[in-house]
Amino acid sequence: MLASTERTTFRQRPQRGSYDPRLIAAILDEALSCTVSFVDEGRPVSIPTTHWRMGDRVLFHGGQGSRLGKAMAAGAELCVTATLVDGLVLARSAFHHSMNYRSVVLFGQAEEITDPAEKEAAFVALIEKLIPGRYSQVRPPTQKELAATRLLALAIAEGSAKVRSGPPVDDEEDMSWPVWAGVVPVTVVKGEPIADGTGSGAS
Ligand SMILES: Cc1cc2nc3c(=O)[nH]c(=O)nc-3n(C[C@H](O)[C@H](O)[C@H](O)COP(=O)(O)OP(=O)(O)OC[C@H]3O[C@@H](n4cnc5c(N)ncnc54)[C@H](O)[C@@H]3O)c2cc1C
Repeated sequence: MLASTERTTFRQRPQRGSYDPRLIAAILDEALSCTVSFVDEGRPVSIPTTHWRMGDRVLFHGGQGSRLGKAMAAGAELCVTATLVDGLVLARSAFHHSMNYRSVVLFGQAEEITDPAEKEAAFVALIEKLIPGRYSQVRPPTQKELAATRLLALAIAEGSAKVRSGPPVDDEEDMSWPVWAGVVPVTVVKGEPIADGTGSGAS
């Protein structure tokens, strides 16, 4: 278990919270993107971005010029969130409507990875997360491309997960209200691939 810290202490509905690194890893692996928040020149900024996980680290990448990459490389204090919405929870009362979800909050400072072999291994893991089996088919990155891409790693050391599941929780006096109640599942689905239309490459 990750240690609970002052800033990862759940205040409301702590029974939905967890410090289980396996749950945190599973949510991070399923989520295609996350949001990285930091303070830049005294103001809060939240930037959506791609992430992937290798062991007990979450990885991020970007062009050398991006503010996010620069802030991470400079050691900014980060708060990273990833969210999977699993359902719309429709209660009988407006008040008790909710969402089913699995989410992660992480805190810490990232470290830049500059070793070319480590960088390439990380990009293999990124492509494999998105489309398993694809890396072996594509042109691998050149040294120039590796150098142009900043790679950052955040240790999964201080953080938490939170999960809501199940039906709505209505008040007893609302149970006879004449409206449908339950959960509308929400899933992210990869659709039918659409070729780029150039006619080149494998079909
Ligand atoms: C899709 C979605 C929709 C939500 N809708 C609402 C809403 O409409 N209103 C609302 O009040 N809350 C909503 N929540 C829950 C919200 O994320 C917080 O859990 C809630 O505000 C209670 O936070 P808190 O005051 O207990 O703790 P805070 O003081 O806000 O957080 C303390 C610590 O608890 C942990 N923590 C809190 N929430 C989460 C989380 N979701 N995932 C992982 N760790 C967490 C973090 O480590 C955080 O630093 C939603 C969550 C999700 C994922």
